[in-house]
Amino acid sequence: MRGALITAALVAAQLFGCGEKPSPAATSSMPASAQPPAATQASAAASGAAVATSAPAAAESPPSATDPPRAIDMHVDTPWQVKFKGRPATVPEGHATMGALKKGNYAGIVYPIYIPDYLHDSNPTIQDADEIFDTIDAIVAANTDILHPHAKGPTPKGKVTAYAAIEGAGCFAKDITQIDRFIDRGVVFVGPVHWHDSALSTSATGQDKKKRGLTDAGKKFAARVYERGGIVDVSHMSDRGFEDLVPIAEKYGAPIVATHSNARKVTKHARNLSDEQLEIIAKTGGVVGLNFYGKFVSSKGDPDIDDLVKHAKHIIKVAGIDHVGIGSDYDGGDPIKGLEDASKIGALAKALREAGLSAEDVHKLFSENVKRVVRWSDDKRAALSSDGPGR
Ligand SMILES: [Zn+2]
Repeated sequence: MRGALITAALVAAQLFGCGEKPSPAATSSMPASAQPPAATQASAAASGAAVATSAPAAAESPPSATDPPRAIDMHVDTPWQVKFKGRPATVPEGHATMGALKKGNYAGIVYPIYIPDYLHDSNPTIQDADEIFDTIDAIVAANTDILHPHAKGPTPKGKVTAYAAIEGAGCFAKDITQIDRFIDRGVVFVGPVHWHDSALSTSATGQDKKKRGLTDAGKKFAARVYERGGIVDVSHMSDRGFEDLVPIAEKYGAPIVATHSNARKVTKHARNLSDEQLEIIAKTGGVVGLNFYGKFVSSKGDPDIDDLVKHAKHIIKVAGIDHVGIGSDYDGGDPIKGLEDASKIGALAKALREAGLSAEDVHKLFSENVKRVVRWSDDKRAALSSDGPGR
């Protein structure tokens, strides 16, 4: 069950056509009660836990005949709900409660440090990023079944490994070296931009997206992310930004990843990816996370799982089965019918099988492909922390 505030925020987001999360206009009227409870902050400080120093991709056991395959979801916005919407760190409500994650047989989730564009009169700071990271730690500390990625080995059944990401890193343009400590603390995916153009890149939904892509700071930032073992996230980036990123990713041999985006050929939306982009992502060994948010799944009516399967099939056709994953956007936007919360994820596996995918293909889409790109990050970090260059 979701609180009225959350529902209001989602309605506002839709009213303003902004998609996954409210725009400045929609949130400026946020009541004071939506601020995070003091207890959340206190428990974050008390826990003192860092999410991770390295993020090994755990090997899952092969899929059983009865359980849905274990899922690793590249975008679950629970930290936003806890930090900005007053949801307790125990996550008793929303799309991704511990109960729902267990029922869905989840093995992993990526919690983004989503830094809203609208903070401090559109001047979010790196300190905001630190505080939201503390919120993630608070969620992990409050849920014994959520594990840090540095808990080595396969994620046991009934447990969920939580990875960290950044969404909307514009504030890092002031000092790109600050990203180092976030990556060192466990951030895997780094999105330079959210709904509005940032000091690093234009946005897929930004004003200047046709005029320019990555800024000079954005190019240096992307290189720094790869150098340190992070992976730039192209979801929310403009086409020009994507174009500018490609040679930088190639230089570092890094996979290009879109944590939560669908296929533009199936649903025309700036947040979705063109066929050309899908091909490039495949070429770099990257992955695209299927987004369950209605507006990105279909431009008409009330989309359901079959509409999402169309995106999966198209991405597989263009990019190949090794380059599609899951990035539900749970707790960030209204999911489609049939995938209302994380407990329902097995229905997607079933629909994919019915659409002709083998069990092995579904297994790849649910977890193996994501694990491959996380491994790239792990290997890079391991090389940095051992004997440096030349290893
Ligand atoms: Zn997003």
